[in-house]
Parts: sequence; structure tokens; C-alpha cells
Amino acid sequence: MTQIEAYIAEHEQRFLEDLKGWLRIPSISTLPEYAADVRRAAEYAAGQLRSIGLDNVRLIETKGHPLVYGEWLKAAGRPTLLIYGHYDVQPVDPIELWQTPPFEPTIRGENLYCRGACDDKGQTMLVFKALEALITTEGGLPVNVRVLIEGEEEAGGESIEHYVRSYPERLTCDAAFICDTHMPAPDLPALISGLRGIIYTEVEARGAVRDLHSGTYGGIAPNPFHALALIIAGLKDARGHIHIPGLYDHQREAPAQEQRFWQEDPLHLAETLREEMGVAQLSGEPEYPPLQRIWARPTLEIHGFVGGFSGEGAKTVIPANGKVKISMRIPPDLGLKAEEVYRLFERRVKELAPPDVEVTVRKIHAGEGVLVSPEASVIRAASAALKETYGREPVFIREGGSIPIAALFNDILQVPIVFMGFGLPDDNLHSPNEKYSLKQFFRGVRTVARFLQLYGAGA
Ligand SMILES: [Zn+2]
Repeated sequence: MTQIEAYIAEHEQRFLEDLKGWLRIPSISTLPEYAADVRRAAEYAAGQLRSIGLDNVRLIETKGHPLVYGEWLKAAGRPTLLIYGHYDVQPVDPIELWQTPPFEPTIRGENLYCRGACDDKGQTMLVFKALEALITTEGGLPVNVRVLIEGEEEAGGESIEHYVRSYPERLTCDAAFICDTHMPAPDLPALISGLRGIIYTEVEARGAVRDLHSGTYGGIAPNPFHALALIIAGLKDARGHIHIPGLYDHQREAPAQEQRFWQEDPLHLAETLREEMGVAQLSGEPEYPPLQRIWARPTLEIHGFVGGFSGEGAKTVIPANGKVKISMRIPPDLGLKAEEVYRLFERRVKELAPPDVEVTVRKIHAGEGVLVSPEASVIRAASAALKETYGREPVFIREGGSIPIAALFNDILQVPIVFMGFGLPDDNLHSPNEKYSLKQFFRGVRTVARFLQLYGAGA
């Protein structure tokens, strides 16, 4: 056992007490009546960072809830890691489904139950404790760190976005580490190698100046809904292929190890998802394995139609206009920015629009994807640390959705992102009886300490 492991083992009880103290503060960021508690949770985090021995620890005031910052920049010549976590939590409804009160941390079996036990106080605290173990036993850290903890992750994260965009020079770093994700199974360590970006649009078709009667005008009147149907059919065919010229022009091959994982799907993730959806068969491009389809292929989805007659019974109207909400998920492998995809999409929609309607395309929101190279030194260090603690190579998985903070760091700070979290799929995030596995918590402390050592040593 190394000195650090001995330190961690010796202080397990106190680590847990420190976490429980934080968990008792109901820092629900979306409910205004908890604002004072949210601030108290920020101060608690700052107190932790000071007691660990970080410098320049402070709350950064924002329009919303404060950010918590601390740094340790004394490892001359070593890389700097930006560490991210969040101290706010989700509301607790429906409260009657909690077995024990949501803000009273309770150990049952191998787990600690409390709102925030995993997301993200538990995961953030384990990083604090890894820093503490290193500073106490080695007198310093093997890398430089900046710690930035936010209190609005569950409420849109506007303040941190504003801060990162306004003061990127205060966050200079070589890599960012986000401890807010989970592993697919208890003994299967994982790193996230990519997230898809998104564009969300609204396409409107306008025909006549007013709604018309299909008996009187049917046969000569333009129909905006039919026009939208033709556009949609032209954008994506029955086999799930998206037909937007230029979309695939800069596509890159994914690393071989990822492709193998998608092909083999050793955890049978696709089957689990099929069962969850309650469908007989999966949709989408048949020549790509399901995991590739949800992680590394673009999507084009229709979310809703607006307008026309949708009440009970029959009304023979030809609507004057109609709208459809369409989004696309954009894998970073396409090598295109969200804005570029939007322009290609818009051009294609206009091209597909029949001449008798007027079509406008609006962008409602957009976000960039993230791609992390398994070859980046920070990823190699994280991977080697996981291998030591879990006794097996981590798998590289992806998120089909987006993690806005990751896209922000990637985009503004232009650094690789390590997504290494220790949550488990059954942790009940955002639901009653949220929990965190104690084993995962302590393994997490050891893994993160080792990760920083290996990163500092240039693994
Ligand atoms: Zn979270």
C-alpha cells in the first residue's frame, strides 16, 4: 500500500463526514426559496478547498449563484488541470417516494443515500479528498490545479458560461477534468470520448393569406403541411439516411478501439435500450451498429407540428401556414461546427421546398460537440489510473446528448476534456433515493490521486 492509499484508508470516516455535512445543505438551485442554502453550500465548498491547502480560494459572485474557485499553481513546469464540479442539486419531488429524508445522508447497505450523494457533491468531494491526500502526504500536488465549482448546473449554467467566456485568461490550463459522469457497470471503468452537438430549428411554410376550404380551393391551393412533409421526406429517408449535401464531406474515422466496441457491444447496451423503449426493432441506418448510431452518427428528428386542424372530428381546412420543429445531433466526427451544419440544413430545406409555398428556417439553439483523443497525455494518464484501481482497461464510451460545460471548455479554452466519473447507472440521479456507492467513492479518491500523479509524471 502506498503512503497515499494508507492516508485515504485511515481517513475514510472523516471524508464521509465532510461529504455528509455538504449533503445536509439543500442547495436546490432552481427554487428561489433555497438561495441562502445554495450560498451556504458554496461556502462549504470554499471551506473544504481552504482546509485542503489551496490558494486564492474565493466565491466569485455572479448574477445567479456564486462560483467557487481555488488554485494550486506551485508545480513549476508541470501541466495545469482545470477541475470542474457542481454543488447545486435537483429538487426532491416526489418526496413521498424517499425512504429516508432527502437531505439526511443515510447509509443503507453499501450506499450513501441523499439528494446530491452522487450528482455532484459526492463526485466533487472525492476529487477534493484526492487533492487533500496528495498535498498532505507529499507536501504538494504533482500538477497545477484550478478548481472551479458552479451552483447552477441543474438550472442552465448561465453564470459559469458567462464567466468562462469573459475571463478565459483566468482559467488557463492544459486540460479539464469533469467528475460528473458514470460508468456503465460497477467493475467496468469508462472514459467518455465524445459528445454530440445539436442544432434545434423551426421550419415554417406559408401558403395562402388565410385558411381555405378544401372543397372550394382544393386542387389549386398550396398546402404548407404537405410541403413540410415533402421537405422532411427529402431530408431523411426510410432507412435513416440523412440527405444533406456537404454533411459528410469532412467526416473522420473513429479510432479502431471505439469502432470495435460499437461493433461488439459487449455490455449489450443496444438490447437494453431496445427493451427500455418497448419496441420490436431498432430504427436507423442499418449498416452502422446501434452504438455508433446513438453516439457517432448524425440524427435528424421531428419533434412536433404546429398549426392546422388537430381537434376531434373533421374540418376541411387547408391551413395558411404550418411549422415543424426539427433538430439534428451532430457527432464531432463530422468535423463541422454547429453553425456550419445549420447552414447546410437551411440550404437543403430551401432546395426541397415546393415552389408554391414560402419557407423560412429559424435556429432556436445550437451547441457544439466534443471529441477527445484517446492519445492525449491527460487521457492516457486517466486511463492508466483507472486500470490500476479497477484492474482492467477502461472502455471508451460516448454520450449521445450534450454536456454544455464540456463544449464550453472545449470551445473557449481549447483543451482536451477528461470525463471520468464514478457514478453507476442505478444511482437515481434527479429521482427519489439518489445514492452513491461507498466503494465507488473511495475508489474514486484513489483513482483521481493516481491520475494526477501519472499526469504530472507525463504518462
Ligand atoms: Zn451533475
